[in-house]
Amino acid sequence: MINVFQPTLADEELAAVAEVFAGNWTGKGRRTADFEAAFAGRLGVGRDRVVSVGSCTEALFIAAQLTGAGPGDEVVLPTISFVGAGNAVAAHGARPVFCDVDRRTLNPAVDDVAAALSRRTKAVILLHYGGYPGEVAEIAALCRDRGIVLIEDAACSVASRVDGRACGVIGDIGVWSFDSTKIVVAGDGGMLTARDPELVERAGRLAYFGLEQFSGFSQAKENTTRWWDFQISSFSRRSIMNDVQSAIGLVQLGRLEGFVERRARIASRYDDALADLDGVLTPPPLPEGHESSYYLYWVQMDERIRDDVAHDLYERGVYTTFRYAALHRVAAYGSDARLPRAEEAAARTLCLPLHQALGDDDVDTTVTALREAVARRTAGLSGTTR
Ligand SMILES: *Cc1c(COP(=O)(O)O)cnc(C)c1O
Repeated sequence: MINVFQPTLADEELAAVAEVFAGNWTGKGRRTADFEAAFAGRLGVGRDRVVSVGSCTEALFIAAQLTGAGPGDEVVLPTISFVGAGNAVAAHGARPVFCDVDRRTLNPAVDDVAAALSRRTKAVILLHYGGYPGEVAEIAALCRDRGIVLIEDAACSVASRVDGRACGVIGDIGVWSFDSTKIVVAGDGGMLTARDPELVERAGRLAYFGLEQFSGFSQAKENTTRWWDFQISSFSRRSIMNDVQSAIGLVQLGRLEGFVERRARIASRYDDALADLDGVLTPPPLPEGHESSYYLYWVQMDERIRDDVAHDLYERGVYTTFRYAALHRVAAYGSDARLPRAEEAAARTLCLPLHQALGDDDVDTTVTALREAVARRTAGLSGTTR
């Protein structure tokens, strides 16, 4: 089976985990601190601007909490968003307001976001579809003008940039994922950054029982009396990264540049191989100054054949998927929005296999299978009236 997503783990990662074993401490410690520092370095921000948490979904929940959005408030997000982002808003009692997206990029235009803002809007949560930054810089400017917090869900865009600035630090708060389907993996984990280091500190407390002061681990040596006492500022939970995860993440971060280079070559191989295929659209070119992480490679076709094409590819050993099902259609959010461009895109889009371990032969197999499936299913349409 050719996988749609797949991590690349090797002896280097295993050796890093072995070192953690040798140190006999699997919890949050030196390696997690090193991972946070390395991540901050990549983003080009100070060490006090990032904190690791248990997952990106957890980071989204914390980010939503930091905005103070609650009952009576609205948070705008593109309907093509990760379900955890919608949940993070709704769980705090705020109303998720979904906006439309571009048919081809599946990212919202600044006008789509603007149209969804109201006096009640507390925050906007934006992802960068497939690693394409989209109009994040323009949306950040709009949010700044209106006094609205911009949260960037940068789970797709660990290496994406706009005019040299990393996605995730263009808005006010950014979050990342290291789960197994992402580019940098750690066996789960997440990262949060905020423009304001005080918010980062608060995020760290929210991820660890709301503890204000605790001298249990590293400070035990300095604090010689009653290091078991603590104070809490909120009734919070525990959702942190540990040194086993961080050891893996650190190695992966070192390999990221190579991963993205390979992904870019695969995307370009798909582009070339599919350029002449009638009825199939490939991702639009990146605008000047934009860099992608190439997290997703998506094609678009007649909605009447999309599901059957996915089925045919699966039968041929090629696993595809669609990310991210439109949230305004999820009943639990209670949205009555009509977002025709997103609905059209959601019905026409299919994500092809894209990961750095994919060989040129795998890409060619996928292309051949796609060409055949599209031809076969398109022929099946003739005679139908629509
Ligand atoms: C994977 C993903 C997440 C969630 O990450 P977890 O670490 O699994 O919680 C959030 N947003 C987007 C866009 C994602 O792709």
